Amino acid sequence: MKIIQSVTEMSQIMQDLRRKDQSIGFVPTMGALHEGHLALVRKSLLENDVTVVSIFVNPLQFNNPEDFLKYPKMPEKDRLMLEQEGCDVLFTPVKDEIFPPDYNQRFQLGFWDTVMEGAFRPGHFQGVARVVYRLFEIVHPHKAYFGLKDYQQFIIISKVVAPYFKDLKISGLETVREKSGLALSSRNLRLTPIQYEQASHVPELLKIAAGMLGKKNLQEIRDWFQAELSKYNELRPEYLEFAHADTLQPFVEGDAPSNYRIFVSFYAGDVRLIDNMAVQ
Ligand code: AMP
Repeated sequence: MKIIQSVTEMSQIMQDLRRKDQSIGFVPTMGALHEGHLALVRKSLLENDVTVVSIFVNPLQFNNPEDFLKYPKMPEKDRLMLEQEGCDVLFTPVKDEIFPPDYNQRFQLGFWDTVMEGAFRPGHFQGVARVVYRLFEIVHPHKAYFGLKDYQQFIIISKVVAPYFKDLKISGLETVREKSGLALSSRNLRLTPIQYEQASHVPELLKIAAGMLGKKNLQEIRDWFQAELSKYNELRPEYLEFAHADTLQPFVEGDAPSNYRIFVSFYAGDVRLIDNMAVQ
């Protein structure tokens, strides 16, 4: 596996590969890799000649400075995991090269930045869009792989960032979960055993809440969810929303509940976690 830090070198290698008609699959990450990330890597390995993984903890997408400082970092373990999978190129750029002082690209994120994560994390998606655009510009992949765990991010990248790149296809892959149902997340590493155990109950509650759509009104569903979470002393819900899978428009009472997803964000101790799933 090649490990590259320099943006110039990376661009050069990617251009050479394209010239040789090699297809490039790309998985952008912030490291502290787990099976969720590896599922994306494996898919890329199956579908492309060359797979590139980037690890860059993007300061622009952290609206909470403490969350940025405490974000888990384990570069050596990440490198070994990627090597074992057969990843071809690991790109580990530094901040000054990703965001040079004259880089001022901004995106019109519109409605998608006003709901759920957009509403609770001001500036987050602008930071995500800016870093993903920059990475696409450098890697210039044919296909890029994202997890549906970050569903709103997937929508924003597909609809706002990817269209700048003509022959780029975006793939969204299902959330990889623990046996308990808890969605894998690098932030789970920050949970105490008790917080971890308590957080593991949330996906089941989410599934039950999803099943209530169309049968109970939104307030009743939210009240029930809040009451269930309050049984766990470390958990605190932030939002519970039902939004359309394509448009992210909130569910309106009386709509037919088809093609909706349920979205949650909650705290376990001081660790903020998100999850979402399709309403069956
Ligand atoms: P991150 O390192 O958290 O920025 O995530 C990098 C990519 O991995 C993003 O596209 C995430 O949506 C995806 N990802 C993170 N957790 C999971 C998971 N549990 N299942 C599937 N994809 C995931």
